[in-house]
Amino acid sequence: MELLQQQDGRLLSTFRLAAVLPTVYQCYSTEDLAKVPLSPRPRVHGEGSNTVFIGPELPALCRYMASAKTLNWLDDDRAELHVEAGHNWHQLVQWTVSQGLWGLENLALIPGSVGAAPVQNIGAYGVELADRCRYVDFYHWDQQRLERMTVEQCRFGYRDSVFKREMAGRGVIVAVGLMLTRQPQRVLTYQGLDQLSADCSLQQVFDTVITVRQAKLPDPAELANCGSFFKNPLLPDADVKALQQRYTAMPVYSQGNGYSKVPAAWLIDQAGFKGKQVGDVGCYHKQPLVLVNYGQGQASDLLTLIAQIQHQVHSRFGVTLEPEVQLVGRQATTQTSVVS
Ligand SMILES: Cc1cc2nc3c(=O)[nH]c(=O)nc-3n(C[C@H](O)[C@H](O)[C@H](O)COP(=O)(O)OP(=O)(O)OC[C@H]3O[C@@H](n4cnc5c(N)ncnc54)[C@H](O)[C@@H]3O)c2cc1C
Repeated sequence: MELLQQQDGRLLSTFRLAAVLPTVYQCYSTEDLAKVPLSPRPRVHGEGSNTVFIGPELPALCRYMASAKTLNWLDDDRAELHVEAGHNWHQLVQWTVSQGLWGLENLALIPGSVGAAPVQNIGAYGVELADRCRYVDFYHWDQQRLERMTVEQCRFGYRDSVFKREMAGRGVIVAVGLMLTRQPQRVLTYQGLDQLSADCSLQQVFDTVITVRQAKLPDPAELANCGSFFKNPLLPDADVKALQQRYTAMPVYSQGNGYSKVPAAWLIDQAGFKGKQVGDVGCYHKQPLVLVNYGQGQASDLLTLIAQIQHQVHSRFGVTLEPEVQLVGRQATTQTSVVS
C-alpha cells in the first residue's frame, strides 16, 4: 500500500477546484485494503471524473489501483472479461474493440476507472453498464471479506446502484465481470449513431461514438469539468403531460413504466443558463448541462451556480434537479447536500 499525504486535489478531480487531500491510501490487493485505517472511514475514490472537492474539510481517500484483466471464453461467441477496478474505463473499451469484442463500444470515451463504473451504472448512447455486467467483486471492510455480487444484487438503475446507496462507505469494488460477444450487438438508436448502416463494423461504432462525444463535450484535460452535472429528471407521465401542454417543444423520453425522462439540458437551457458564469465556473456554451471550471473557479462559485440553476428550473417548471456529480467536503454556506 502507498500512503500519500497532502495531495493536490486538482490532480484527483477533473473539475480541478483547489483542494488539499490530507491522506490518500493507494491499494493494490485486498491485503492492502485490510490495512487501511477505518476510523474515520476513508472515501473510496477512482479518477475523480464524477467528484468535486469543495473542502475545506476533506476526508482521507482510498483508491484501488490494481488493473489486471482476464478473458474467459464461455463458448464460440461469448467471453467473460474480468477486470480489476483500477483499470481506466476508456482504455478497456479501446482494448475490447481491438480484440473484435462487442459490448462496450457505445460506452467509449467515458472518463474514469472500471471500479467506479458500477457505482452510477455508467451509460451512454443507449447502453448502460448493467446491460453488459455479469458480476461485481466487492470487498467488505467490516467483515474483511470479498463478495461476488450478481447483477440483481447490484440493483442497477438510472445512474444508480446499491453501491451508491446501502453499500456506500462499506467497502470497495475490486473487480467487475463483463459479458462480451464476437457476434455484433449493435445499438444504433441514439441520435448520432442512427446515421450508421445496419451492418456497420465494431470499429465504426466506436469511432462514431468518439466523434459525436468530442463534438458535444469538453475534454476534461483541456477544460475542467465532470460531464453532465445533473441527472435527467424522471417524472410521472401525468406531470409530464401537464408540462407539455405549456411547453410544447419540451423533449420527452417515455420509459414505458408510467414515468418519462425530461432532458435536464433542455430545462437548464430554457431557464437561460447556456454560457452563464459565476466567477470562473459556468455552463458550457455547447451543452449547459455540463458545468465547467475555466481555471480559477472557487467552490463557492460552483455552489452558487448549482443553487441558481436548481432554483430557476424549479420555479419555472416545478422540477427538482438532482446533481449527478458528487460534491465532497463541507462548506458552511451551502444548501446543496454534500457528502464526506
Ligand atoms: C467529460 C465527461 C463525460 C462523462 N460522460 C459520462 C457518460 O456519458 N455517462 C456516464 O455515466 N458518466 C459520464 N461521466 C461521469 C464519469 O465519467 C463516471 O461517473 C465515471 O464512472 C467516474 O469514474 P471515476 O473513476 O472518475 O470515479 P470517481 O469520481 O473517482 O468516483 C465516483 C464514485 O464512485 C465511487 N468509487 C470509485 N471507485 C470505486 C471503487 N473501486 N469501489 C467503490 N466505489 C468507488 C466513489 O466513491 C464515488 O462515489 C462523464 C464525466 C466527464 C468528465
